[in-house]
Amino acid sequence: MSAYRSPFERLREKFDESERRCPECGYVDTEGGWRVTTSGGRVRYQFVCPTCDAVETRELRLE
Ligand SMILES: [Zn+2]
Repeated sequence: MSAYRSPFERLREKFDESERRCPECGYVDTEGGWRVTTSGGRVRYQFVCPTCDAVETRELRLE
């Protein structure tokens, strides 16, 4: 239907494609991907490794 996608979704896709790999143990998550939360003008992406519980966080500012 509509081709419109929000910046959130585009960024999320980008993370999902490129960074599903745990930097600590090398586990590659094929399902979960990143969790996205927003607060104020910021978007926080968090990836929690299911095998070693390492937490990877990215924070972006919305323009
Ligand atoms: Zn890990």
